Amino acid sequence: MTTPSKKPLLAAFDFDFTLVEDDSDGYIFDVLSPGLRQKMTELQGKVQWTDLVVSSKQPLTCLINYINTATLQHQLLGELHQEGKTKQQIIEAIGTIPFNPAIITMFGTIKAAGGDIIIVSDANTVYIDEILKAKNARQYITEIVSNPGTWGPDERLSVTRRVKPPAVHGCKGVCSLNLCKGMEMIERMEGYELVLYGGDGRNDHCPMTKLKKGDVALARTGHSLEKLVKSDVKHLEAIQARALWWNTPEELLGHVQKVLSH
Ligand SMILES: [Mg+2]
Ligand SMILES: [Zn+2]
Repeated sequence: MTTPSKKPLLAAFDFDFTLVEDDSDGYIFDVLSPGLRQKMTELQGKVQWTDLVVSSKQPLTCLINYINTATLQHQLLGELHQEGKTKQQIIEAIGTIPFNPAIITMFGTIKAAGGDIIIVSDANTVYIDEILKAKNARQYITEIVSNPGTWGPDERLSVTRRVKPPAVHGCKGVCSLNLCKGMEMIERMEGYELVLYGGDGRNDHCPMTKLKKGDVALARTGHSLEKLVKSDVKHLEAIQARALWWNTPEELLGHVQKVLSH
């Protein structure tokens, strides 16, 4: 009897503050509309408050239409459109987001080992696609799993949720209503011998808990994932995979090179 052969490697990464050195949702307003950036910061306080309520007492169904990252971005992009910002301006601005070339070297290392690279992000497909093209990195990526972004005929950029109400992803972790990265990983991990997952945020904890013992969690220090893990040891214990911590993209590259050289 022959066992179906597995592919060697799946490498999945968060996008903001993992593959790029800023938050794309905020960066676009930093460049094109500081006033909207300010507004975003104020409204984000409410988003976090909503997340808190979701996790404590209210039934999920009551909260389906509450604001979250994708809906907030959609709303603010409508205002950016009203300010007269064009598709061309948005594409050019988003492409200047800070990016470290060590990430390109890392992608090359993964591809040389026969790996598939996917992105699992709560940003949106338009930002990720345009940024990767601007950094000459689009060709390395097999799939972008994110909130769908689409251009209207009037050049208004729309963002919809990855998981649209009334559907729910059913995860009881700290994931937001529109996306559970853990569920997305479960659907894609099967059939790979080794899985790497890299990320920096609270919503990168869930996918790291879905990795198996021999897999590798590439966890960035200095962001909300580290805070979450340090807040309660059970969050660390929930990760069975080997956890390798990194702070700079060069350190991330070093971990990946080491893991794949064995
Ligand atoms: Mg991130
Ligand atoms: Zn989840």
